Amino acid sequence: MKKMNVESFNLDHTKVAAPFVRLAGTKVGNNGDEILKYDIRFKQPNKEHMEMPGLHSLEHLMAENIRNHTDQVVDISPMGCQTGFYLSVINHDNFVEILEILEKTLQDVLNATEVPACNEVQCGWAASHSLDGAKEIASEMLAKKDEWRQIYIEEA
Ligand SMILES: [Zn+2]
Repeated sequence: MKKMNVESFNLDHTKVAAPFVRLAGTKVGNNGDEILKYDIRFKQPNKEHMEMPGLHSLEHLMAENIRNHTDQVVDISPMGCQTGFYLSVINHDNFVEILEILEKTLQDVLNATEVPACNEVQCGWAASHSLDGAKEIASEMLAKKDEWRQIYIEEA
């Protein structure tokens, strides 16, 4: 396969075992600050995906709540294929802590009573939300917490 500019385009999506969390890349700035980008894969590529309203609410809930657990988040946003999220952080290279932050954030989703900012002033498609859908995705992800560190299907 031709080497692509985007790191994840070089990843063989048929060889991964979702759910998993994978460091997808790092960038170091001129002053030594480091941006790390993680691939948080919730669903098995080309086999399953998250439905849009639940995914959208999960995006709002995670974006708002993850920042209660660390001030090093640059961005967390959904993949267009609806199988995962990108998480970018600055100067945070402790993988174990990243997993703990993710776990706490998903726990917040389960405890949520409403979706933050799901109105026409604060969101681009306020009608497309599902708190129950977001909770279902979060609960399935948390149930498979022990699998988050395994990225690839084990060779038989
Ligand atoms: Zn929105």
